[in-house]
Amino acid sequence: MLSIKNLHASIEGTPILKGINLEIKAGEIHAIMGPNGSGKSTLASVLAGREEYEVTDGEVTFKGKDLLDMNPEDRAREGVFLAFQYPVEIPGVSTTNFLRTAVNQVREYRGQEALDAVKFLSLMKEKMKLVEMDQKLMSRALNEGFSGGEKKRNEIFQMAMLEPTLSILDETDSGLDIDALKVVSNGVNQLKSKDNATIVVTHYQRLLDYIVPDYVHVLYKGRIVKSGAKELALDLEENGYDWIKADVDGAS
Ligand code: ADP
Ligand code: MG
Ligand code: MG
Repeated sequence: MLSIKNLHASIEGTPILKGINLEIKAGEIHAIMGPNGSGKSTLASVLAGREEYEVTDGEVTFKGKDLLDMNPEDRAREGVFLAFQYPVEIPGVSTTNFLRTAVNQVREYRGQEALDAVKFLSLMKEKMKLVEMDQKLMSRALNEGFSGGEKKRNEIFQMAMLEPTLSILDETDSGLDIDALKVVSNGVNQLKSKDNATIVVTHYQRLLDYIVPDYVHVLYKGRIVKSGAKELALDLEENGYDWIKADVDGAS
């Protein structure tokens, strides 16, 4: 589904990603871990097509198409979903209206008919149950005054509504208490299918008790320096990143 080869990216002339290689197949969950400042959010942002980042080398194909050649809107329509580390507030736009537009744009792109108000509301109710979302939030402006936990639930709710092929969750666990963490994880797990894939970016192992990854990758200094099965996350929890840093820094 997603193939990243030798990806290099810079921000304001500073190289951040320095040769990322990653293959993700449908049905898989990949966790990306690593110390702060390693480039995890940069990788997520580059995949979503945020414009501040300049790709300087390498290639990314998504479902056989050149992802880097697409603008962010087309990437979203193709099924790439990025849940931001800091979800934005959009004053004056209700969550419902925002989502109805987004969902219908995606449906149009996929050749499906637009949902009318009634059908849209029933889809919303079904998906809100998945994340135990308070219905009152839907009439408020998008994310405005939402608590940290409510924003995170809202992200997973949006993901449920849009049914992306590739979901990228960037530190969706930060700031969540254990109950919210379980709800969010449960939502992600229920949305998992053989046709979609998820990249979970997290600094801590905790989330991976609930969202069990097929593969764990450690990003450090802009490169994936170690990959393994889910046990790697436990190893990191126990031993930290120092042994990996020492390996990499010692070798360079
Ligand atoms: P992570 O998500 O792994 O903590 P980031 O991708 O956020 O790491 O950041 C990687 C590096 O890029 C860090 O050294 C950070 O300081 C730098 N960086 C991120 N955003 C900017 C920016 N807008 N301008 C300059 N440097 C940035
Ligand atoms: Mg960070
Ligand atoms: Mg980050």
